[in-house]
Amino acid sequence: MSFINQWLRSDIQEIQAYHVPKSKNMIKLDAMESPFLVPEDLIEPYLAYLAEAELNRYPDAGAEELQQTLRELMGIPKGLDILLGNGSDELIQLLALACDTGDTILSVEPSFVMYEMIAKFTRLNYHGVSLDENFQINLDLTLAAIRQNKPKLIFISYPNNPTGNAFDRQSIKKIIEESDAMVVVDEAYYAYAQDSFLEEICHYPNLVLLRTVSKIGFAGLRLGLLIGNSETVSHLDKLRLPYNINTLTQASANFLLKEKDRIRENAQIIIDERSRLFDELAAIEALVVYPSDANFLLVKTPDANALFAFLKTNGVLIKNFASHPQLSNCVRITVSDAGENNALLKQIKRFYG
Ligand code: PMP
Repeated sequence: MSFINQWLRSDIQEIQAYHVPKSKNMIKLDAMESPFLVPEDLIEPYLAYLAEAELNRYPDAGAEELQQTLRELMGIPKGLDILLGNGSDELIQLLALACDTGDTILSVEPSFVMYEMIAKFTRLNYHGVSLDENFQINLDLTLAAIRQNKPKLIFISYPNNPTGNAFDRQSIKKIIEESDAMVVVDEAYYAYAQDSFLEEICHYPNLVLLRTVSKIGFAGLRLGLLIGNSETVSHLDKLRLPYNINTLTQASANFLLKEKDRIRENAQIIIDERSRLFDELAAIEALVVYPSDANFLLVKTPDANALFAFLKTNGVLIKNFASHPQLSNCVRITVSDAGENNALLKQIKRFYG
């Protein structure tokens, strides 16, 4: 037996690593990234701004300026506080670290896989409650599971990855009201959605929100945030590693996220493209396209493996859920700009043509 095999926790040995496929030179529509780069006219002043960064020093630990930038970008009111993470993934992990041995994380299924993975990493129990056939929350089933499992943390992706829909708002409120758990409404896709729970945080002491800049053009910065009341945030902040947001990320975000109008315009382009892509895909007889409030579409196909392989051979990478128990033969496609969407459509039409 190798050293690592006898050394490592046996449950970690069993875990399948989060798989990131190779995508060099491909049209990358598998990870909900934005197609928009830093605008031409900003590159020079942006680089000049970065050149001022003092890389010999540790980053600003409290990241005050960055917090202000995010407040303005996302309209976060004064009464709420922000906890910054190296991506919102890190904040999911931080919330799990705040739990006790034997505690349970509950989420709905299918949803973002990291909720369950991080429960495993941190040796917490995980309970997934199936969504109904329209990918909505099955409220009775969920409330019963909450009563039975007494979760410490409940994650609700709103809109939901990978189904794309936003759950019924009243169902989420009921879950917040009827459980003793900290309920985490994960608004990673807020920029493409019509609704938010931001205004509700002040009404519910057990509600926090997660957001990220990954889906609005800045996945490479690795920057996520938790929004909550100040008491909650100040306690959770003790678990944050002191310099988790590096100097280049802070500087980049402080420069680039000030461009609120451009960020909004880019989101609107994606929203418009989403509806065009929806119509074009729905017109293909073989496909069922699910409604989406996010920057991706879930599509049911006759044979997801074959479509996925065909697109890959032709330079387009999407996410394949062929063998997922609740999403059999589904694929998830990120909505991109018109050029990339057209390239995708051309190949899909060739495949089903
Ligand atoms: N939450 C949801 C619902 C997501 O889909 C993702 C990314 N796929 C994340 C959180 C993680 O985002 P980040 O890049 O900020 O870690």
